[in-house]
Amino acid sequence: MFIELTDHLRCPADHDESFLVLLPGTMEGRSVRTGELGCPVCGRTFELADGVLDVGVAPAPGSGKGSALDAEGLTALVGRHGPGGYLTLVGPLASLWREVAALNPGVALVAVNPPTDVSDTDGISVVRGGRLPIKSASMRGVVLGRPFADEPHWIREAARVVLPGLRVVGEGKDPSPDLIELLASAEGVWVGARR
Ligand SMILES: [Zn+2]
Repeated sequence: MFIELTDHLRCPADHDESFLVLLPGTMEGRSVRTGELGCPVCGRTFELADGVLDVGVAPAPGSGKGSALDAEGLTALVGRHGPGGYLTLVGPLASLWREVAALNPGVALVAVNPPTDVSDTDGISVVRGGRLPIKSASMRGVVLGRPFADEPHWIREAARVVLPGLRVVGEGKDPSPDLIELLASAEGVWVGARR
Protein backbone atom coordinates (compact mmCIF):
# COMPACT_ATOMS: atom_id res chain seq x y z
CA MET A 1 0.00 0.00 0.00
CA PHE A 2 1.24 3.48 -0.88
CA ILE A 3 1.99 5.19 2.39
CA GLU A 4 0.23 8.35 1.13
CA LEU A 5 -3.02 6.41 0.66
CA THR A 6 -3.24 5.81 4.40
CA ASP A 7 -4.14 9.53 4.75
CA HIS A 8 -7.32 8.82 2.76
CA LEU A 9 -8.53 5.78 4.68
CA ARG A 10 -11.36 5.69 7.20
CA CYS A 11 -12.59 3.26 9.79
CA PRO A 12 -15.28 1.02 8.21
CA ALA A 13 -17.40 1.06 11.39
CA ASP A 14 -20.72 2.93 11.40
CA HIS A 15 -19.61 5.76 13.70
CA ASP A 16 -18.84 9.27 12.37
CA GLU A 17 -16.14 9.12 9.75
CA SER A 18 -12.72 8.81 11.34
CA PHE A 19 -9.21 8.57 9.96
CA LEU A 20 -7.01 5.57 10.75
CA VAL A 21 -3.60 5.79 12.43
CA LEU A 22 -0.83 3.82 10.76
CA LEU A 23 1.64 1.85 12.84
CA PRO A 24 4.05 0.75 10.11
CA GLY A 25 5.90 -2.53 10.38
CA THR A 26 7.86 -3.25 7.20
CA MET A 27 8.33 -0.62 4.50
CA GLU A 28 9.73 -1.01 0.99
CA GLY A 29 10.40 2.46 -0.36
CA ARG A 30 7.06 4.29 -0.08
CA SER A 31 5.07 1.07 0.19
CA VAL A 32 3.86 -0.28 3.52
CA ARG A 33 4.20 -4.09 3.42
CA THR A 34 3.14 -4.95 6.96
CA GLY A 35 1.70 -2.93 9.79
CA GLU A 36 -1.47 -2.02 11.57
CA LEU A 37 -4.09 0.67 11.13
CA GLY A 38 -5.98 1.72 14.22
CA CYS A 39 -9.18 3.72 14.70
CA PRO A 40 -8.93 6.38 17.43
CA VAL A 41 -12.74 6.43 17.83
CA CYS A 42 -13.68 2.77 18.33
CA GLY A 43 -10.26 1.28 18.97
CA ARG A 44 -10.52 -1.33 16.24
CA THR A 45 -7.29 -2.34 14.52
CA PHE A 46 -6.80 -3.67 11.01
CA GLU A 47 -3.80 -5.62 9.84
CA LEU A 48 -1.80 -4.89 6.72
CA ALA A 49 -0.25 -8.12 5.39
CA ASP A 50 1.69 -8.38 2.10
CA GLY A 51 0.74 -4.74 1.58
CA VAL A 52 -3.00 -5.56 1.57
CA LEU A 53 -5.47 -3.95 3.98
CA ASP A 54 -8.44 -6.17 4.84
CA VAL A 55 -11.15 -4.46 6.90
CA GLY A 56 -13.38 -7.55 7.00
CA VAL A 57 -16.54 -8.97 5.40
CA ALA A 58 -15.07 -8.78 1.89
CA PRO A 59 -17.02 -10.75 -0.72
CA ALA A 60 -15.18 -13.73 -2.19
CA PRO A 61 -12.99 -12.66 -5.11
CA GLY A 62 -14.75 -13.37 -8.42
CA SER A 63 -13.09 -14.22 -11.69
CA GLY A 64 -11.77 -11.53 -14.03
CA LYS A 65 -14.10 -12.55 -16.84
CA GLY A 66 -17.27 -10.93 -18.09
CA SER A 67 -16.30 -7.26 -18.30
CA ALA A 68 -17.15 -5.34 -21.46
CA LEU A 69 -14.94 -2.46 -20.32
CA ASP A 70 -11.33 -2.22 -21.33
CA ALA A 71 -8.71 0.16 -19.97
CA GLU A 72 -9.22 2.70 -22.79
CA GLY A 73 -12.97 2.65 -22.34
CA LEU A 74 -13.00 3.05 -18.59
CA THR A 75 -10.36 5.79 -18.76
CA ALA A 76 -12.45 7.73 -21.27
CA LEU A 77 -15.62 7.32 -19.19
CA VAL A 78 -14.09 8.25 -15.86
CA GLY A 79 -12.42 11.24 -17.56
CA ARG A 80 -8.82 12.29 -17.98
CA HIS A 81 -7.84 15.02 -15.56
CA GLY A 82 -4.03 14.95 -15.68
CA PRO A 83 -1.72 13.55 -13.02
CA GLY A 84 -2.41 13.38 -9.29
CA GLY A 85 -5.00 11.80 -7.06
CA TYR A 86 -6.44 8.34 -6.72
CA LEU A 87 -8.54 6.22 -9.05
CA THR A 88 -10.36 3.29 -7.44
CA LEU A 89 -11.19 0.10 -9.34
CA VAL A 90 -13.71 -2.16 -7.60
CA GLY A 91 -14.04 -5.86 -8.39
CA PRO A 92 -12.74 -8.14 -11.15
CA LEU A 93 -12.00 -5.37 -13.64
CA ALA A 94 -9.12 -4.30 -11.38
CA SER A 95 -7.21 -6.94 -13.39
CA LEU A 96 -6.86 -4.19 -16.01
CA TRP A 97 -4.79 -2.03 -13.70
CA ARG A 98 -1.49 -2.19 -15.63
CA GLU A 99 -3.14 -0.85 -18.79
CA VAL A 100 -5.10 1.71 -16.76
CA ALA A 101 -1.84 2.86 -15.12
CA ALA A 102 -0.16 3.26 -18.52
CA LEU A 103 -3.05 5.45 -19.74
CA ASN A 104 -3.15 7.54 -16.55
CA PRO A 105 0.43 8.53 -15.69
CA GLY A 106 0.84 10.09 -12.27
CA VAL A 107 -2.49 8.74 -11.00
CA ALA A 108 -2.34 6.35 -8.05
CA LEU A 109 -4.55 3.27 -8.38
CA VAL A 110 -6.50 1.48 -5.66
CA ALA A 111 -7.98 -2.00 -6.26
CA VAL A 112 -10.87 -2.92 -3.98
CA ASN A 113 -11.81 -6.62 -3.80
CA PRO A 114 -9.84 -7.51 -6.94
CA PRO A 115 -9.32 -11.06 -8.19
CA THR A 116 -6.60 -13.00 -6.39
CA ASP A 117 -4.17 -12.49 -9.30
CA VAL A 118 -3.93 -8.78 -8.43
CA SER A 119 -1.41 -8.39 -5.64
CA ASP A 120 -0.32 -5.22 -3.92
CA THR A 121 2.79 -4.01 -5.69
CA ASP A 122 4.46 -0.90 -7.08
CA GLY A 123 1.68 0.89 -8.92
CA ILE A 124 -1.38 -0.43 -7.13
CA SER A 125 -2.69 -0.60 -3.58
CA VAL A 126 -5.01 -3.48 -2.72
CA VAL A 127 -7.84 -3.20 -0.20
CA ARG A 128 -10.46 -5.79 0.76
CA GLY A 129 -13.66 -5.27 2.69
CA GLY A 130 -17.42 -5.10 2.80
CA ARG A 131 -17.39 -1.37 2.09
CA LEU A 132 -14.92 1.25 0.84
CA PRO A 133 -12.70 2.08 3.84
CA ILE A 134 -11.95 5.39 2.13
CA LYS A 135 -12.73 8.93 3.26
CA SER A 136 -15.66 10.75 1.68
CA ALA A 137 -14.89 13.02 -1.29
CA SER A 138 -11.30 11.86 -1.68
CA MET A 139 -11.07 9.91 -4.98
CA ARG A 140 -10.77 11.38 -8.49
CA GLY A 141 -12.81 8.52 -9.88
CA VAL A 142 -14.35 5.15 -9.02
CA VAL A 143 -15.04 2.29 -11.43
CA LEU A 144 -17.47 -0.35 -10.17
CA GLY A 145 -17.19 -3.63 -12.02
CA ARG A 146 -19.60 -6.54 -12.00
CA PRO A 147 -21.23 -7.54 -9.70
CA PHE A 148 -20.63 -4.47 -7.51
CA ALA A 149 -22.34 -1.96 -9.82
CA ASP A 150 -25.64 -3.86 -9.38
CA GLU A 151 -25.62 -3.44 -5.61
CA PRO A 152 -27.06 -0.21 -4.10
CA HIS A 153 -24.64 -0.47 -1.16
CA TRP A 154 -21.59 -0.23 -3.44
CA ILE A 155 -23.08 2.52 -5.61
CA ARG A 156 -23.74 4.56 -2.46
CA GLU A 157 -20.17 3.95 -1.32
CA ALA A 158 -18.70 4.95 -4.69
CA ALA A 159 -20.77 8.15 -4.75
CA ARG A 160 -19.63 8.93 -1.21
CA VAL A 161 -15.89 8.66 -1.89
CA VAL A 162 -15.67 10.39 -5.27
CA LEU A 163 -14.73 14.08 -5.32
CA PRO A 164 -17.58 16.51 -6.11
CA GLY A 165 -17.95 16.95 -9.86
CA LEU A 166 -15.99 13.81 -10.70
CA ARG A 167 -17.34 10.50 -11.91
CA VAL A 168 -18.35 7.00 -10.95
CA VAL A 169 -18.45 4.45 -13.78
CA GLY A 170 -20.45 1.26 -13.29
CA GLU A 171 -20.94 -1.90 -15.27
CA GLY A 172 -24.46 -3.13 -14.62
CA LYS A 173 -28.06 -2.01 -14.82
CA ASP A 174 -28.84 1.70 -14.51
CA PRO A 175 -28.74 2.78 -10.86
CA SER A 176 -31.71 4.27 -9.08
CA PRO A 177 -31.65 8.10 -9.17
CA ASP A 178 -31.73 8.32 -5.39
CA LEU A 179 -28.29 6.64 -5.27
CA ILE A 180 -26.40 8.73 -7.79
CA GLU A 181 -26.96 11.33 -10.50
CA LEU A 182 -26.95 9.39 -13.75
CA LEU A 183 -25.06 11.30 -16.47
CA ALA A 184 -25.04 8.72 -19.26
CA SER A 185 -25.69 5.06 -19.91
CA ALA A 186 -25.32 2.66 -22.83
CA GLU A 187 -24.98 -1.08 -23.30
CA GLY A 188 -24.83 -1.96 -19.63
CA VAL A 189 -22.31 0.72 -18.65
CA TRP A 190 -23.28 3.92 -16.87
CA VAL A 191 -21.57 7.10 -15.70
CA GLY A 192 -22.74 8.96 -12.62
CA ALA A 193 -21.75 11.77 -10.29
CA ARG A 194 -22.34 12.26 -6.60
CA ARG A 195 -25.36 14.36 -5.68
ZN1 LIG B 1 -13.68 2.99 14.28
